[in-house]
Amino acid sequence: MAATGKCASFRLPPLPTIGEIIKLYNLRAEKQLSQNFLLDMKLTDKIVRQAGNLRNAYVCEVGPGPGGLTRSILNAGAADLLVVEKDTRFIPGLKLLSEAAPGRVRIVHGDILTYRMDRGFPPHIAKRWEDEPPDLHIIGNLPFNVSTPLIIKWLEDISNRTGPFVFGRTRLTLTFQKEVAERLTASTGSRQRSRLSIMAQYLCNVKSCFTIPGRAFVPKPEVDVGVVHFTPLAQPQIQQPFKLVEKIVKNVFQFRRKHCRRGLEMLFPESRRLELAEQLLRESDVDPTLRPVDLTLSHFRALADTYSRLCAQNQGLIDYDFREELTENRAKRRADRSKELDSYT
Ligand code: SAM
Repeated sequence: MAATGKCASFRLPPLPTIGEIIKLYNLRAEKQLSQNFLLDMKLTDKIVRQAGNLRNAYVCEVGPGPGGLTRSILNAGAADLLVVEKDTRFIPGLKLLSEAAPGRVRIVHGDILTYRMDRGFPPHIAKRWEDEPPDLHIIGNLPFNVSTPLIIKWLEDISNRTGPFVFGRTRLTLTFQKEVAERLTASTGSRQRSRLSIMAQYLCNVKSCFTIPGRAFVPKPEVDVGVVHFTPLAQPQIQQPFKLVEKIVKNVFQFRRKHCRRGLEMLFPESRRLELAEQLLRESDVDPTLRPVDLTLSHFRALADTYSRLCAQNQGLIDYDFREELTENRAKRRADRSKELDSYT
């Protein structure tokens, strides 16, 4: 595997332009795969610069497509670049690139949502979690329809130190629809504050880098695009299991315009809802009239710690889902009504 020796000269030799590659291999963008290509090398270089120093680094690129960003990563000096691409049509163009950078590009034809990145790089590059991040970077101009489920999956991986994070605090530089990028980086009290803001920020240092106008892509998407950089925190701001935090955050934000108490109540079965919600808020020292967008990460930490304690004291609480109770109650009411009707006949 590469990246052991230093690569003296890492600039790529002259190659057909990305536009020529697209024509050569007849790579019409597939809407189904959210394909919007970046052909401007100044922009792809700018994205790559956000990742930091890539000289001799290990990199995984998500969805390389015709290879614009891939070229910038190689020009920045990456020694071992693993590209994961779902669409077979791009593989010949990527092979051409790999031949131009011998021993530096590995091509995986696969789906990033299921690819086992923990097996994609040698174990010796791993760093301890508390140490500096490893020299491994994930970079991608992500397909829009994959970006949100993918970042949630990777946030869970960060929490569990699995997937790309078996190597330590692997950094990510990714593109999102501008609206999603704004949610990821939104601070307390802002209009864009949402589930994604809390889930990303309790686990990572999240930095909004810059916005790329939609017109820079071919074909032009409906929206602008935001570049976001993530560095997993050595100490997550909330020290509870990911699923528990996710449950609280989801419940709070389901009534985003109401007082936070409204959503938090739904964590508890109807029979003890008011009593336990009150205990949760009191023991967490959270004002029940705060709106979800006004809750800080410290509020969420206190809520998660108290809720975890309540779950330890109340058997079955962790698995409680108010939607299931609603469905059961509706079914029971229907059965009672038909029994009542039967008694008249
Ligand atoms: N990186 C290229 C660029 O910047 O021009 C292409 C970006 S395009 C927005 C997204 C790319 O991701 C496409 O090449 C598409 O085929 C690929 N893709 C879509 N879904 C994928 C998945 N689940 N796993 C891996 N690649 C995927």
